[in-house]
Amino acid sequence: MSPPERLEHIVVVGAGAAGLAGVETLRREGFTGQLTLIGDESAPPYDRPPLSKQALAGTWDFPQVLLRPTHHYAELDVGLRTGRLAIGLDLPQRRLRLDQGEQLAFGGLLITTGVAPRRLPFDDGLKGVHVLRDEQDAAELREHLRKEPRVVVIGAGFLGLEVAAVVRNLGMDVTVVDPQPVPMERQLGREAGTLVAALHRDRGVRLRTGIGVTGLVGSSGWVTGVRLSDGAVLDADCVLVAIGATPRVEWLRSSALPVADGVECDAFCRAVPGVYAAGDVASWPSARYGRRMRLEHRMNATEQGIVAARNLLHGNVEAFDPLPYFWTDQYQVKIQVHGVIPNGAEMVIAEGDPADGAFVALFHEAGRPVGALGWNKPKDIRRYRQELLESTSSEVCETGA
Ligand SMILES: Cc1cc2nc3c(=O)[nH]c(=O)nc-3n(C[C@H](O)[C@H](O)[C@H](O)COP(=O)(O)OP(=O)(O)OC[C@H]3O[C@@H](n4cnc5c(N)ncnc54)[C@H](O)[C@@H]3O)c2cc1C
Repeated sequence: MSPPERLEHIVVVGAGAAGLAGVETLRREGFTGQLTLIGDESAPPYDRPPLSKQALAGTWDFPQVLLRPTHHYAELDVGLRTGRLAIGLDLPQRRLRLDQGEQLAFGGLLITTGVAPRRLPFDDGLKGVHVLRDEQDAAELREHLRKEPRVVVIGAGFLGLEVAAVVRNLGMDVTVVDPQPVPMERQLGREAGTLVAALHRDRGVRLRTGIGVTGLVGSSGWVTGVRLSDGAVLDADCVLVAIGATPRVEWLRSSALPVADGVECDAFCRAVPGVYAAGDVASWPSARYGRRMRLEHRMNATEQGIVAARNLLHGNVEAFDPLPYFWTDQYQVKIQVHGVIPNGAEMVIAEGDPADGAFVALFHEAGRPVGALGWNKPKDIRRYRQELLESTSSEVCETGA
């Protein structure tokens, strides 16, 4: 069956994990029309999680993070256009505006443009101040680490802490600063966040939590310190700013697309007819959790890319209702979270023991388990996923069963 005329050409903007899942799904599900994948980076889609782990530690080279070999795109008959930036969207005319004055007509559009790292309002272009989102950032940070600098990480989220772990493993000094008292409390809850703090302190990371950063100090164009809200200055030759990210929707602002905290989609990942979004950039109303969600998790990018592409091609055949999942690797510890950990929820140990460095914990809301955390329990935690899928299913939530 040939696709409807409006779908003669599908364009996917954003050549990351979600965009890759989108083009592969479209071909797998029988789309035979023209398919274009546009990305502003020079590389074809690659995996980001290793950038703060193996690639930063120097145990993996860049080719190892590529998600597919380059010939894959020709085999899929996908017009992969790297190094090209989408700068505008004309919805009524169904046209994309690209840099270099090019316009591209489309019948269907999938937006997978991800997020951009937040920067400090006062970094003044000082050298030695890094963010970490792409392979270029990782290469620059890695190069800087070769000089064995004194490192300060601003932000004790998973990204900042993974980098701190790599820096310690490389034998360098590192201080992590965060205004929140407990690292990763929002993602892991207070008890597990406290364990993460202990993990880093035990390995010699200086953790300065509960204190803000008010400025950077520099000399001859290079950063030399980080000023804290109590007036103290931490000496630093290398600063990583890891204070979160914002959806890359700047190019959509003048279009009529619903854009707030990312592209606002319906339950089918659809923003407006013919235009869908997936991955870090997309939000959707979660039936499972009864609220709008936007996730910056690797597995979600692939899962949502697949569902969005199917719905774009076949017409809203599947509501997107995932059980969120993310992991973080710090030193020898793998922390995995399935579902969500509600604010202030008590951590109930289901098996193992934090004192032994391996456990699974459950978190409840309204009497039901809604989240599970595994600490060095990659096999055992899988069993809890099925339980969570059932206890958080939208039927259960609606009936209160
Ligand atoms: C260093 C690092 C470590 C991580 N570790 C983990 C982890 O351990 N566990 C986990 O669950 N998640 C992790 N994540 C998160 C995970 O990698 C992301 O959720 C995932 O990569 C999102 O995929 P995406 O396709 O939505 O976005 P991206 O991978 O960001 O892809 C979007 C692409 O679109 C491009 N783009 C943006 N705007 C435009 C435009 N206007 N025109 C053209 N192209 C554009 C971007 O440059 C980018 O190439 C990590 C992320 C980073 C950065």
